[in-house]
Amino acid sequence: MAGFDFDLVVIGAGSGGVRAARVASELGARVAICESDRLGGTCVNVGCVPKKLFVHGSHFAYDWVDAEGFGWSSDATFDWAQLVRNKDREIARLNGVYGAVLANAQVAIYRGRAALVDGHTVEIDGTRRTAERILIATGSTPRKPTIEGADLARNSNDVFTLESLPSRMTVVGGGYIAVEFASVFSALGVEVTLVHRGKEILRGFDQDLQRHLHEELEHKGVQLRLGREVAALRREAQGIEVKLDDGTLLKTDFPLFAIGRVPNTADLRVKEIGIELAERGGIVVDEDFVTSVPSVGALGDVIDHIQLTPVAIAEGMHFSHRFFGNNDHRIDYLGIPTAVFSQPEVGTVGVTEAEAWHRYQDVRVYKSTFTPLKLTLSERAERTMMKLVVDAETDRVVGCHMAGSGAAEIVQGLAVAMKCGATKAQFDATIGIHPTSAEEFVTMRTPRPRE
Ligand code: NDP
Repeated sequence: MAGFDFDLVVIGAGSGGVRAARVASELGARVAICESDRLGGTCVNVGCVPKKLFVHGSHFAYDWVDAEGFGWSSDATFDWAQLVRNKDREIARLNGVYGAVLANAQVAIYRGRAALVDGHTVEIDGTRRTAERILIATGSTPRKPTIEGADLARNSNDVFTLESLPSRMTVVGGGYIAVEFASVFSALGVEVTLVHRGKEILRGFDQDLQRHLHEELEHKGVQLRLGREVAALRREAQGIEVKLDDGTLLKTDFPLFAIGRVPNTADLRVKEIGIELAERGGIVVDEDFVTSVPSVGALGDVIDHIQLTPVAIAEGMHFSHRFFGNNDHRIDYLGIPTAVFSQPEVGTVGVTEAEAWHRYQDVRVYKSTFTPLKLTLSERAERTMMKLVVDAETDRVVGCHMAGSGAAEIVQGLAVAMKCGATKAQFDATIGIHPTSAEEFVTMRTPRPRE
């Protein structure tokens, strides 16, 4: 639109912001994006990607054990600094890819901190730019604890620059990040204690998954302290003392707090221009990601809805198609598959068994727990768990849950089947691929009695 410097200025070059900027530009809009840090946001720099590289890196600890059962012997050693170096090299490459993607899409990139002046103006390190629309995609940041000694607490960002492996790590929280890093560092030989305020880890996940992963983590040597909160941290001559709310004292070298992520709105001056924030700090938006100021949108972690990269990307696509194209599709938030890259990995889509009993008249549940073929020659006793939840009235599969090797890859495919409304009869009519773990999902025939 004439009169403005740009049609769209995006604040934040993470997954959602970059996708929205690129798509809007491809649709003919004049677009700029502002970023004060490295391109790619949390996912690329201090989230999904480096975390998954660490997960792969740590899994070799188990792979070497498994290999012995197949006749291999080795005296493999591990070099943490090399893993971090190689990870940094790959992340730098991805930063470059993001820059190239934006440049190729002819999106102007402003490197600096942006703040809102009004609904059509942003100020980037003192320079003002105007736009018909502004999109806030500034993501989130790890929540800080508010306990005595909180400045000693570390968060997931710190893990990616750790210079050497600690001997002892206390992980606080029972969600994605806590469970994933407890798994990574335990595999790498760190003595890990996980402290969580809830009765079970992974709140909101299927109960069988929770229990299964709990047992598997313990099996791998992670100590779980459930129903406990950290009351204080104190520096000692030899590390850090963690005081729990029941008075128990733990010794640690690295107190990793993974207690959720809060929307990044500080210094943006959102409130000053009249943008409404929810109680937890997320920007309030309508179904087109428009805030209470009609020319300003917001999406991704900063709206504090579903903090997952593919969701932010879908929201970015929706926003740009909605306002710079002619596609009016809505995002379907139902049936979003998700994975926790713990060891073993968890993959899940649809409702939990408990939710199903709440939602449907009658429910059939199929569950199988077994030792995967690869581990039959191994000293390692890791079990795989699979579960299907079926609405008995329609026979539709409404929940699919797995803990075991390949869970994320397998569940992604099953999520498509579920999106298409697959019934249990259709699962049963599908021929399995033998021998795989995945075939169990099409061979479970006997419902489990309600517990
Ligand atoms: P989560 O929301 O997954 O988990 C937060 C955990 O911290 C919960 O166990 C919660 O307990 C606990 N908690 C919250 N507040 C406090 C507090 N004040 N004191 C003690 N414990 C507290 O957040 P994460 O930080 O693990 O991850 C943030 C988000 O990032 C995730 O929700 C997820 O959306 C995304 N993510 C996705 C990944 C993936 O896709 N694999 C990987 C990593 C992150 P309670 O259950 O009782 O509320």
